[in-house]
Amino acid sequence: MNRKKSIGYYRRALELIPGGVNSPVRAFKAIGIPPVFIDRARGAKIWDVDGNEYVDYVGSWGPMIMGHAHPRIVSALKKAAPRGTSFGAPTPLEVELAIRVRKAFPSMETLRMVSSGTEAVMSAIRVARGYTGRNKILKFEGCYHGHGDSLLVKAGSGATTFGIPDSLGVPEDLAKHTLNAPYNDLERVKALVNQYPEQIACIIVEPIAGNMGVVLPEKGFLEGLRGICDERRILLVFDEVISGFRAAYGGAQELYGIKADLTCLGKIIGGGLPVGAYGGKEKIMERVAPLGGVYQAGTLSGNPLAMAAGIEALEILKSKKIYQDLEKKTTYLTERISESAEEQGIPVSINRATGMLTVFFTESPVRDYASAKTSDTKRFAKFFIEMLEQGIYLPPSQFEAWFISLVHTQKDLDKTAEACDTAFRKI
Ligand SMILES: *Cc1c(COP(=O)(O)O)cnc(C)c1O
Repeated sequence: MNRKKSIGYYRRALELIPGGVNSPVRAFKAIGIPPVFIDRARGAKIWDVDGNEYVDYVGSWGPMIMGHAHPRIVSALKKAAPRGTSFGAPTPLEVELAIRVRKAFPSMETLRMVSSGTEAVMSAIRVARGYTGRNKILKFEGCYHGHGDSLLVKAGSGATTFGIPDSLGVPEDLAKHTLNAPYNDLERVKALVNQYPEQIACIIVEPIAGNMGVVLPEKGFLEGLRGICDERRILLVFDEVISGFRAAYGGAQELYGIKADLTCLGKIIGGGLPVGAYGGKEKIMERVAPLGGVYQAGTLSGNPLAMAAGIEALEILKSKKIYQDLEKKTTYLTERISESAEEQGIPVSINRATGMLTVFFTESPVRDYASAKTSDTKRFAKFFIEMLEQGIYLPPSQFEAWFISLVHTQKDLDKTAEACDTAFRKI
């Protein structure tokens, strides 16, 4: 495939933008080839600036579950834009989107719109701290919750339980308030909760993890967290920025029947425009300004274009059948890849939830960050390049989810499975 124009744009971008990209993973660092610059997209297809066509499994990292440039979303935007693109004042659209979100997530009794998943999580953490009067938070290794300071913290080594900054520029004084436990490890959570009695404001978790690749909660894990939180008056925060409106319309909370105290949403609820939301029990959310003393604001929050796209996205998604179809597609692709890997003698471990899957290049089952890390990332990089050459655009990292949309056709899935077969032979 010729990617001359992509390389040209990349060179110019490198002079203007750090690493040539506006979000790190887009730079293909884990693959070692220049990134592909995109010209346009429609349905499940994406075209680069050199005119190459790909079946897209990035889906803008989750939001494009209804496919790119969905006619109903485009028309909602066309209707909204001439009426003004931002007012800095309340609009009926915000109420309309909030109604739909609360219907899908009844635990979000009241909610606030923001402009990204990062903002939603940062704000929810502030509310949790403000409400409980406690400083510490507990998160899980391998979960990503956006780039807020308190969340860019990894586990301290060995016996030390204090978190250490995962990024320059995060003060240690702040990082020490972030505790880390391995995903699916309730015993570790119990130990930390005992070690810091009445100091932990919230436990935050991706109820279906998507940011170390797809990792499912084991039976009893989420229930266990709920129990510990109830007992210790800790708030349970579900980061459903990926799982919300994907794993099920009502996210992991609908799927597993567990209610979070605070929920964070993003990605799909913006229909491809920048939207995040956080919300929960009214008695907690009433601490948010202007009702209460937890300050949080946003010039473009509730933006009318973003709200219009979000409303239309949720309208498209609201039928049960859509999720049954998505589940079928995900199962089909997973099974085809799994059979092919076995035939070619490539050890893989595939995790999947509705509309998302990860092919880990490892034999061991993946249940947490440590087991995800046993994957052969060099082999993944080779696989990625072979897939790209065959017109399949995957997330450029072993530790990401492939996102399947409503509009991936049987033909797209078959083409992908066949490309995997060829790629497995070559790596
Ligand atoms: C993407 C993501 C975020 C951050 O959302 P942005 O819109 O990129 O700021 C937070 N949490 C999870 C689980 C995510 O996948």
